[in-house]
Formats: sequence, C-alpha cells, structure tokens
Amino acid sequence: MSTRRSQQLFARAQEFFPGGVNSPVRAWHSVGGEPVFIARGAGAKIVDVDGNEYLDYVGSWGPLILGHSHPRVVAAIQAAAMRGASYGAPCEPEIELAQRITGAFPSMERMRFVSSGTEATMSALRLARAFTRRSKVLKFAGGYHGHADFLLARAGSGIATLALSDSAGVPSDIAATTLVVPYNNLQAVEQAFHVRPEEIAAIVVEPVAGNMGVVPPAPGFLQGLVATAHHHGALAIFDEVITGFRVGWGGAQGLFGIAPDLTCLGKIVGGGLPVGAYGGRREIMDLVAPSGPVYQAGTLSGNPLAMAAGIATLDAIADTPNAYAELERRSALLEQGLRDAARQVAIPVSVNRVGSMLTLFFNRGTVADYDSATQSDTDLFARYFRAMLTNRVYLPPSQFEAAFVSLAHSDQDIADTIDGAQTAFQGLRAS
Ligand SMILES: *Cc1c(COP(=O)(O)O)cnc(C)c1O
Repeated sequence: MSTRRSQQLFARAQEFFPGGVNSPVRAWHSVGGEPVFIARGAGAKIVDVDGNEYLDYVGSWGPLILGHSHPRVVAAIQAAAMRGASYGAPCEPEIELAQRITGAFPSMERMRFVSSGTEATMSALRLARAFTRRSKVLKFAGGYHGHADFLLARAGSGIATLALSDSAGVPSDIAATTLVVPYNNLQAVEQAFHVRPEEIAAIVVEPVAGNMGVVPPAPGFLQGLVATAHHHGALAIFDEVITGFRVGWGGAQGLFGIAPDLTCLGKIVGGGLPVGAYGGRREIMDLVAPSGPVYQAGTLSGNPLAMAAGIATLDAIADTPNAYAELERRSALLEQGLRDAARQVAIPVSVNRVGSMLTLFFNRGTVADYDSATQSDTDLFARYFRAMLTNRVYLPPSQFEAAFVSLAHSDQDIADTIDGAQTAFQGLRAS
C-alpha cells in the first residue's frame, strides 16, 4: 500500500500547522506513523490521496451517522449555498432545526446554536455559573468537553482534589475551579459536594463516555448524579455532543429516561458542518443575552448551510425505517465478531458498546472509568490500528476513542471488518 502522496502532503502541512494538523489526534501520535490525507468519502468508505480505499469507523469523529456525502445532505448544502452562505441575521432554517431538536430532546425547552461542541459546553457552564451564582464545576476523569481552559482539567486523583490542568497555558487558578472525580463513582460525587458545599455550580458529564474510549454509565449513575446535583442546588449538564442522535433519537437522556437541566449538542446536529447547541429549562436559558445578562454570541451561529445540513441529516434518519434498531443490530454484529476474533487467538480484549459507538480495549478487565481504561495495552492497540489500516479499515487512531458505525455500513462491510480484524489479531499473536 503506497502512501507516498500523503507523506508529501504531510511534509508540506508541517510547514503551516503545528504538528502538521489542525486538531491533535489527526497526527496519529499515539499509534505512530504518519496520517493519510483523505481525498473523498462516500457512504461507509473514504479514499486517500494515493487512491487507497478504507472502511471508515471515524465518521469525522461522530457526525456522519449517515455516512459520507449522503445525497440528501449534499443536496441540502448545495441548495442553501445558492441562497447565500451566511447573513448574520435570523433565518428560518434555525427554527426548523430547533423544532426537530426539541422534539427529540424535550428537556431543551429553549436553545442557542453555536458553531462547535466546545462553544456549547463552555457557554452552558457560564450559564450554570450565572444561574447558581457559584463558581466551581464538577467533571469526571476522562470526560472531554471541548477545549475551554477550565474544562481541560481531568487529572484529579483524590476525591474532590482540585484538578491540575492537562494543558500548558491554563492558569492554575482557572484549573482550580474544576473538580474531577472518577466516572461511575457516585460516592465521589457526593463527597465532592460534602467537601465544597454551595460552591459547585454544575456537574458536567458525558452520559455515555466516549472520550476515554466508550464507557457506559453504570445502572443508576446518571439518575444518582442528577439527584445529587439537585439536592445540593447545582445543575446537571449532559454533554451529548457525541451521544445526541447517536445512541438514540433522543440521545442518552432518551435512552436512559433521565432529563438534565442543560444539554449540549454538536456533531450529528450539524450533519458534518460546524454546529453546536446548548439548551434546557426555560428559566435557565432566559438568562442568556439578549433576554438575560449572560453574554454569548457568534458571527456564524445558526449559519444557514450548517442548519441545512443538520435538518437534512435528522430528516434522513427519521425517514430511515428502524434507523436505531438497524444501527444496534449491525453494531452488535461487529461487537460479537471482534470478540470472537480476539478469543480465537486468545488476545484478551474488553469491548464496550452502546448502540453504534464502540471501543475495543486491549484490556483484561472491565473498563468502567478512566483508571481502568488507561490499564489498556496501547502498544498493542497501535499495532492493531496499523494492521487494520493495511486491511483497509480506518479506525480512530487512539485506544481512547469511540469507533462509530453508520447507517451506510452494510452487513457486508461489517463482515469485511471482522475478517480484517481476524487477520490483524493473528498477526499480533504471531509476532
Ligand atoms: C467532540 C466533543 C466536544 C467538542 O466538540 P467540538 O465541536 O470538537 O468543539 C465536546 N464534548 C464531547 C463529548 C465531544 O465528544
């Protein structure tokens, strides 16, 4: 498999971009080697600039639940572009997309569109701080909520210890406004409130974790944390940037039947274009400017192209018979196939899956939080990733990411992926 042209482009890209990329994981640092440059995608497949075709399980990191360049989404974007790319003034598609979102997420009584998931979480937390008049934020180790300064903290070891930032450039007094506790640990949540009564504005959580690899919430965890937040006068914020319209039409809150105070969306609601949204209870959202004192704005917020892509994506899902049941069925096939393939060669793996988000951990034990996720054999993962790439399967280039199955992945695609994994695992066993 030649990747000569990708190599040339990566060399050129390094002259312009730090590390040659515009978002860090694209550089493949944790799996080694150099990234391939993608020329185009259609359905479940992408093609690199050297003409190599891959079955894609990245799906642009979540948005592409319909697969690449779905005809309906392409047509909607083209039609919208003919009417102008942006007005900086209200347009009807904003209402159309909002109506679909609130239909699926009744807890989002009012919402605001932004241009990324990062903006959605950052703004939701500013709002939660204003509403509660408190300053601290509780998050979970391994939870990713975009790259706002105070949300880059995740390294808290002890219960309710003030977190150290993961990034240079974040002032320690900003990082100190964030408390970090282990995922799936309600006792640690309770303890944090006990140690800092009336200081915590909100708990922010990925209701199915996707950024330490997929980690499902333990039974009762989400219910418990919402109840604990409310008991202590704090808000519960579900960061459904990945899970919204992914694990079900109503996201994780629909799947598990629990409503947070505020919800953050992104990825799928933009259909592959830059969109985020945050929303929730009316009395909270009405604090946002111009109806209230919490300032938040965006030149391209509610952009008509992005709205059109989002509307087309949601409508295409809605028009697909049994969309989520199909995603579940195909993803379950993949899960079972991967488990069987690993078992045949006695490589210990732990596969976590919720709907069409899945992570195969090279890990003997159960992965239920960040600590257990990081027990995984990342060297073995890197070799698996490279072997799968050779077998024309493009996985997320990190052990700590979710693979996404789309509605474009056929049963044959899944079978081919499992074949590829069998070969890859045999190679890992042999060497
Ligand atoms: C991707 C992601 C974000 C950030 O969204 P961007 O659009 O990349 O800024 C926030 N939260 C979660 C859970 C995500 O997966």
